[in-house]
Amino acid sequence: MVGNSVVRSKQYPGRLVRGLALCMVLMLGAAPALANPADLLLINGKIVTLDAASSITEAVAIESDHIVAIGRSDDIRKLAGPSTQVIDLGGRTVIPGLIDSHIHAIRAGFRHATEVNWEGATSLVQALDRLKSEAAHAQPDAWLVVAGGWTPRQFEENRRPSQAEIAAVAAGHPVYIQLFYSYALINSRGRDELNIKSEEDLPQGAKFERDRDNEVTGWIAGNGRAITSLYARLPKPQMQQAIEGTREFLRRVSSFGITGVIDPGGHNLAPEDYAALFLMWRAHELPLRVVYSIFAPRPGRELEDFEAATQFLPMGAGDDWLRFNGIGECITWGMYNNDAPTETDKEGFYRVARWAAEKGLSLTVHWNNDRSVHHLLDVLERVNRETSIAPLRWSIAHLHDASDASLHRMRALGVGWLVQDGLYFAASSYVAQRGEEQMQRSPPIVSARRLGIPVGGGTDANRVMIENPFVSLRWMLDGLTIDRVETRGAREIPDREEALRIYTEGSAWFAHDENRRGRLMPGLLADLAVLSEDYLAVPVPDIATITSLLTIVGGRIVHATGPFSDVRSVHR
Ligand SMILES: [Zn+2]
Repeated sequence: MVGNSVVRSKQYPGRLVRGLALCMVLMLGAAPALANPADLLLINGKIVTLDAASSITEAVAIESDHIVAIGRSDDIRKLAGPSTQVIDLGGRTVIPGLIDSHIHAIRAGFRHATEVNWEGATSLVQALDRLKSEAAHAQPDAWLVVAGGWTPRQFEENRRPSQAEIAAVAAGHPVYIQLFYSYALINSRGRDELNIKSEEDLPQGAKFERDRDNEVTGWIAGNGRAITSLYARLPKPQMQQAIEGTREFLRRVSSFGITGVIDPGGHNLAPEDYAALFLMWRAHELPLRVVYSIFAPRPGRELEDFEAATQFLPMGAGDDWLRFNGIGECITWGMYNNDAPTETDKEGFYRVARWAAEKGLSLTVHWNNDRSVHHLLDVLERVNRETSIAPLRWSIAHLHDASDASLHRMRALGVGWLVQDGLYFAASSYVAQRGEEQMQRSPPIVSARRLGIPVGGGTDANRVMIENPFVSLRWMLDGLTIDRVETRGAREIPDREEALRIYTEGSAWFAHDENRRGRLMPGLLADLAVLSEDYLAVPVPDIATITSLLTIVGGRIVHATGPFSDVRSVHR
């Protein structure tokens, strides 16, 4: 039990108007709970339900894994029995658990224990310090790896570290530092380990960066495929490290109020790298719900590999904590990051997509540029003429510069859109490529919602972006980049509730779960977060620093800190 402040109804204008509706909800929801006292009551809060009337109320009653009643604290309190756990929220704001609809969480967890993170470092000095302290703790020969999730724009110095700076803090260790999918620095010790003696030893599409005096800088420049094949040469974590990393990364995500992720596989993630995740699931140790799709493992053998995998893995296999959700975000390598696919590439994609449609699989596909998305939409429309894809919840990820024409085609197909805050790091180069006018409407979040396209929120962490959902929510609401450049114009800025809906019920749609989670109502899964600050009331810039004090998934307390540090699940 925490706090003793009683929330008074006058604090929440408009609630009296909704009182009658709430009473009815409570009565409907309370009926089963009277026969059977609730397991857990959360009282004296500001409960943002995201129901159809946008009701805000005070209390929630939970039985087993779902919500049985919501309403005023006095009424909800009556549902307590002798063994009911009661948590006083002290007026704090509760939101439906956030769902990141496009996050490489499985890979991030698998690698977490063997990587150094530069998230939140505001200077190169701080970033290099993190490497230094890792070097001090690591085994003498261990690799020091920063695999992404940073941008030079976050540093006062506004540049990448030099080879000499790395040598000064990580002497004796092989070091690998990746910047997006464009650059990697490997120090001389690392190049020795990987047998990189000259440019010929680099993957195709990569070359040494040279300075004005034609000296190698230590950085390697390359395309996405070249950088991922460089990374693939690094040693993989041991099983125990994979388990520790997965546990720690998912706990970290949970501490931001994330109660579910939708994972699209990714580069550098082999089927055997899922073992730690599956182990945690079997041990009922996952702190959030994982819905995942399979990324095409091998170029040229996509259909063969997908067919083999899904023989034993039907759509929806698993349970509410871990569930298989189809294929993507790479469907075929020929149509991945390719603005000029050939007819053969498109035919290859069509064959896989048609097979997926006939098999009833969900499908998600990565696409960056509106100028070339017609190639993809043509193929989706072709498949749709034979098998209706709308019921299958297919989606396009990224496409920050989606045009109205593309959005209309997506709507006609019933295809959803997965939006992330990639531009929070990358807007400056985006403006250079596409111009200010395009920047003003990128991504066109409000237009897409107005058209009725399903939109999911997320981050695309943790190579190109960080996993913090409140950074993403704040960016949705002000379009301000990490280096404080104002980007998206007012017409494409949703209001706070709209942004929250995108990150909850909006994301849930892509997991076929929008009628089970993403809102706080009787009968829905009890997935919620008690926030450190009031998301609806703090100034927009402060939204980025919100965390969860108490995260509950399926009625189970999975994260508790600050005033709730001592709170543990009694019933689950
Ligand atoms: Zn992607």
